[in-house]
Amino acid sequence: MGRALLDDGTVRVNDFGQTSVPGVYAAGDMARRESIPIPLAQITFAVSSGQLAAGMIDQELLMVDLPDLPSPFRPAQQES
Ligand SMILES: Cc1cc2nc3c(=O)[nH]c(=O)nc-3n(C[C@H](O)[C@H](O)[C@H](O)COP(=O)(O)OP(=O)(O)OC[C@H]3O[C@@H](n4cnc5c(N)ncnc54)[C@H](O)[C@@H]3O)c2cc1C
Repeated sequence: MGRALLDDGTVRVNDFGQTSVPGVYAAGDMARRESIPIPLAQITFAVSSGQLAAGMIDQELLMVDLPDLPSPFRPAQQES
């Protein structure tokens, strides 16, 4: 899908699990933030990063359906 990868082959994500491809998220062992120097490879990290990505996806879809709805946060943009 043309996602940006880090040197260890994991998919580069931002703090919200967003990949370099708009609308595509990654979590768990396959994904890593650059600020975390090593793959964490822990069940709790996989669960929490998946939950965070799920929350962002939910928010992103909500903004599509209800673009005028006041929101405490807008989906962050992945830096290129
Ligand atoms: C031997 C071992 C012991 C471990 N012990 C611990 C422990 O004690 N505590 C702990 O916290 N963590 C432990 N871990 C790490 C933990 O298992 C992982 O961090 C966690 O399972 C990651 O979850 P995940 O959902 O990201 O990936 P996974 O659990 O690897 O799930 C990915 C799933 O995607 C499937 N898949 C892959 N490619 C495709 C494809 N192309 N199409 C469809 N499906 C695909 C795979 O079959 C797999 O079911 C251990 C890992 C190993 C290998």
